[in-house]
Amino acid sequence: MCVSLASDRGLLLDPIAPGVYGRLPIFERVLAGLSEAISNLDPSAHPEVLRFPPVIARQTILRAGYFESFPHLLGTIHAFSEHEPAEAPSDLVVTPAACYAVYPHATGRVPVEGRLFDVESWCFRQEPSDDPERMRAFRMREFVNIGSAERVHGWRKEWIPRVQQFLARLGLQSSLALANDPFFGAGARFLAMSQREQELKFELSVEVRAGATAACISCNYHLDHFGTAFDIRTENGEPAHTACVAFGLERLALGLFAAHGALVEKWPDQSLRLLGLSRAQC
Ligand code: ATP
Ligand code: ZN
Repeated sequence: MCVSLASDRGLLLDPIAPGVYGRLPIFERVLAGLSEAISNLDPSAHPEVLRFPPVIARQTILRAGYFESFPHLLGTIHAFSEHEPAEAPSDLVVTPAACYAVYPHATGRVPVEGRLFDVESWCFRQEPSDDPERMRAFRMREFVNIGSAERVHGWRKEWIPRVQQFLARLGLQSSLALANDPFFGAGARFLAMSQREQELKFELSVEVRAGATAACISCNYHLDHFGTAFDIRTENGEPAHTACVAFGLERLALGLFAAHGALVEKWPDQSLRLLGLSRAQC
């Protein structure tokens, strides 16, 4: 059985557990095209390219402060030990966002020009939903910039129009809005407000199925949060600032199917070219 999103051709298998989808080949082909197109977005940049598995050291996520800010979204890995016939927490959790994997590898001084990473990971978030755009397991591609406040803030500013143009070239109508993360607990409202006041998070949303829009890209500035947590320093010894541009690959693919229909061979030339797809392949 397939979830039929735009017409009679399926893209995703009906989930057995909510938010966990099998993907059909055409969906994966579009996703691979998106990945390639994202790689080509800034030809002048030469990022350090890293790919990570869907699990991450518990220690990294602790250090990042995720257990305080978003414990309600976190999946943890329990395992049986050789000696104990009971499940116990392991040293791993499921990766909640791709960029976390980068920071512990950046500990130390960054050069004056900063460091730029291109990272991708499967991610997990415990937010079960029947809406195909809100998955529990999905792929996130990110560019992560680390350096001085001025450079990192400027870098994020540059990326907002770049991703807006990217969506336009794909034939997707998008809207840009200030956003906040879904913080947990008593301080959540305050943290969300202060994140908005400081304009730390912008999201670009597109229609992902008839009548429903969702954020498909976010442009985030973390100030010195990760620089401090992971002891990443600028040349003059200050905690480094960080920013990331995060692409939700499945949501982008859903956006393309929603905008152009289920039959990829009928998509606009420009979208197919950008995705590196030829009509014959579809
Ligand atoms: P939302 O506001 O929709 O919950 P978010 O603010 O949690 O998204 P980020 O943490 O900025 O999203 O993650 C980067 C990108 O990853 C999002 O813009 C989105 O495209 C994608 N993403 C996040 N959560 C999901 C999900 N549950 N299913 C599919 N894609 C997701
Ligand atoms: Zn990030």
